[in-house]
Amino acid sequence: MAGTTPSPLRGLIFDVDGTLAETEELHRRAFNESFARWGLDWHWSREHYRRLLATTGGKERIAAHVRDHAPETALSADGIARLHGEKTAIYDRIVGEGTLALRPGIAALLAEARRHGLRLAIATTTSRPNVETLSRAIWGRPASEIFDVIASGDEVLHKKPDPEIYRLALARLELPAGAVIAFEDSRNGLLSATGAGIATVVAPGPYTRDQDFGEAALVVEEFTACLPLERLSARLGKALPATATRPGFDNQGDRPWP
Ligand SMILES: [Mg+2]
Repeated sequence: MAGTTPSPLRGLIFDVDGTLAETEELHRRAFNESFARWGLDWHWSREHYRRLLATTGGKERIAAHVRDHAPETALSADGIARLHGEKTAIYDRIVGEGTLALRPGIAALLAEARRHGLRLAIATTTSRPNVETLSRAIWGRPASEIFDVIASGDEVLHKKPDPEIYRLALARLELPAGAVIAFEDSRNGLLSATGAGIATVVAPGPYTRDQDFGEAALVVEEFTACLPLERLSARLGKALPATATRPGFDNQGDRPWP
């Protein structure tokens, strides 16, 4: 980017699972509990779940398990959807127990972005109820009060690594790809974001550490390395708008920012 005029930075787009919060262990617990309730003798170990994570979307993951490891199981698409519904309810309960926290640096990134008047979006392959569960657990508010735009898995035909979900988030933000930065934790997410033309920062998690992040604009240990936002945007060839609002308040008025 050296020698070129920085393009204005207008928004940030976040993945949910593994990026906003380390949720995969809770998802794995919920899957296993739902299998037990259904009398299925499946147990997804960490190692098995790591491999299944190559398939994005919960229903798709169950289908992949049936196809590759339990082909004798008679489970229709409708049965998978109901099993997944039960898993989602269990996940809801587990997260409600209050074990979930934002990954380091995320809260500060969101607050800094608001201070600079940036728009915030979610692009996730998880379902909308899971996004709401996480938002209620962490902020005690619906996700739409934290993020301007939410694009979730059930709204697209093709999940990550397909770029469809990021394109949907960009369309709703009414921003071009060059005006945003994406934050991800996995190769599938990275490919989805870069496939939509978005510069992407990756902070891998325990399940994604050994993946290839060659297409990333930046790979960091934790998102704390993205602070301050001025430095990150300069590094990615983007210009932050001047601070537009008082610290601690969002850009929509006087609503205090958590
Ligand atoms: Mg993720």
